[in-house]
Amino acid sequence: MPTPQPAKQLHALCHEHHIEMRLTEVLIKTEGAPTHTSTYACPEPDCAVSYTPSKGYFLAAKHGQVEHDMTPRVTCRRDGQRMYLAEINPEKRAFRLWRCPLCDSIRTNEEGLVNELPTPLLLRP
Ligand SMILES: [Zn+2]
Ligand SMILES: [Zn+2]
Repeated sequence: MPTPQPAKQLHALCHEHHIEMRLTEVLIKTEGAPTHTSTYACPEPDCAVSYTPSKGYFLAAKHGQVEHDMTPRVTCRRDGQRMYLAEINPEKRAFRLWRCPLCDSIRTNEEGLVNELPTPLLLRP
């Protein structure tokens, strides 16, 4: 099974702290065997927010268990990829800019297209 290799380092922000996340290797335990995955993780010591291009944002609990929680799920309208938070605007606290790790397209919540509820893909190719 091919493991997706990120071609470039993403500048993904923690959606809680709005600071840039660091690329780390973590052991992720899902239904199957534990796998090492390149994951972006928030550098704040108590923050469990993580991001991978294939899974989107999730909370990485201690001991390799993964909890799904109220993390933002913004998907790319072209390819359905989970987007990452790329920019915020300190002057507009509600502003969020999301970027697709595959095709680099962006969405902002000012377009009225983004809500932070889990949604199915809006458009299927
Ligand atoms: Zn954080
Ligand atoms: Zn895309």
